[in-house]
Amino acid sequence: MGIENFISWYVSRQASRYFSFENGGSIEPPPAPDRPIHLYIHIPFCAELCPYCSFHRVPFMEPLAREYFSALKQELGMYRDRGFSFSGVYIGGGTPTVLPDELFDLLSLITGDFSPSEISVETNPDRLDRGMLKRLADAGVSRVSVGIQTFDDQILKAVGRYEKYGSGPHLKERLTEAKGIVNTLNTDMIYNFPIQSLKMLESDLETLMDVGPDQITFYPLMVSDLTRGKMKGIMGRVDHSKEKRFYEAITSYLDGRYEPNSAWCFSKAGTSMIDEYIVSADEYLGVGSGAFGLVGGRIYANTFSLPLYAERIRQGKFPLSARKIFSARELSRYAFLMGLFGLSINLNSFRSRFKAPLWRLLGPELLFFSLAGAVRREGEKLVLTRKGQYYWVAMMREFFTGVDNFRDLSREAAGIRQPPDGLSSH
Ligand code: SF4
Repeated sequence: MGIENFISWYVSRQASRYFSFENGGSIEPPPAPDRPIHLYIHIPFCAELCPYCSFHRVPFMEPLAREYFSALKQELGMYRDRGFSFSGVYIGGGTPTVLPDELFDLLSLITGDFSPSEISVETNPDRLDRGMLKRLADAGVSRVSVGIQTFDDQILKAVGRYEKYGSGPHLKERLTEAKGIVNTLNTDMIYNFPIQSLKMLESDLETLMDVGPDQITFYPLMVSDLTRGKMKGIMGRVDHSKEKRFYEAITSYLDGRYEPNSAWCFSKAGTSMIDEYIVSADEYLGVGSGAFGLVGGRIYANTFSLPLYAERIRQGKFPLSARKIFSARELSRYAFLMGLFGLSINLNSFRSRFKAPLWRLLGPELLFFSLAGAVRREGEKLVLTRKGQYYWVAMMREFFTGVDNFRDLSREAAGIRQPPDGLSSH
C-alpha cells in the first residue's frame, strides 16, 4: 500500500468517526463565542439539477425559495439576538444567485447587522454577467466563486453541463468578461474525471492562463459511496490512479504564475486573495437547511428537510438536527488537518489554543508525516512541503467524501430522494 493509499484509508476512517453524530429533536444552539467567527449560509435551490451532484440542493420553485429566504433571515436574527457576530461570510449552495432580489435583501441584512470584513458568494456560469457582478460588489461581496469544472466539451456533455451552461469556448468568453469587477474572482475546476486525459487537463490549464482569473481552485473528483456505482454508468470507474500525476501537472504548470493558498487553491502570484473559510476559520456557524457549523469544539448540522426547517423557524426554534462533540484530541487533529491544508501551522498559536504542544497531542502523526517528507519545521511554523501537498489533497478528498456520505444519509433520513448520480463538486 503506497503512502497516499494508506493516508486515504486512514482519513476515510477518521471522517466516518467525525460524522457519526448524535441526532435528536431538540439540540441546543451553541453559546456565542466572545469574538467574531465565520458564517456559512446555505441556499439549496438550483434552476436545474445536475444529474451528478450530491450537494444538498432541490429544484427551484419560487414560492418555496422566497419562504426559505425569509426563514434564513429569521434564523440569522435568532443568532444575532444570542450575541453572535461574524468577521466573514460565505454563501454557498445550490445556487445562491438563483433569486437575485432575495440574495441582495439577505446581503443588506448581513452588512447592516454584522458588518463582516469579507463576503464570498458562489454562482454558476449563467449568472456570470458584468451587471450581476457589479451589483454583488456594490453589496459588499469581495469574492465570487464560479463553478466551471472544465472547458472540455466532451466532459461537459458527459456531466450534463454543456446544455445548461454552454460549451468550453462560451465559458471562456464569460469568464474573460467577468474579470476585474470583484476583488477575487475564483474559478472552481475539477480534475481526474474517468474520461479525462492529461492532454485534456493541459488544455484546461492553457485556457485558464489565457483568461487569467484571480484565483483557481482545482478539486480532485470526489464521489460519495452511494453514488460511486451510478457514476460508473456515466463516465466509467472513478479511481485515484491518475490523480497524483494530474495534481503534479497542475502544480508544475501553475508554478511561477499562481501561488498556492492551500493544497488545492491557487492565487495569482504577488496578489493577496481571500482564502476558503474552512482553511482560515477556526470556528464557523452554519445557517440554512443542511448547513454545518463548528463552534466551541462541537459540529452542528441543521435539518436537511426544507418543510421541517421552515416549521422550526416559524415556531421560533433553532433547526438543529445533529451534533457531535469533539474530544480534545479529535479537535486538535482537525486543526492539524485544516491548518496544514492551508500550508502551515503556527506552533505557538496551536499550543496556546490546545494548552499543549503539537508534538505532545499528535506525536505519532507528526513523526509519520515528518518521515514521509510531508512536513518540516521552519522556526515557529510547521509547513507543508511540496511533496506533502498531494498527501493533503488525498486527505481532504477523503474528508469531503465523508461529508458527502453524511449528506446522503441525512437526506435519506429527511425523506429526500437521492439524486440519480453523484459527483460531489459544484
Ligand atoms: S452542481 Fe451546482 S448547479 Fe449543479 S445541481 Fe449541484 S449545486 Fe446545483
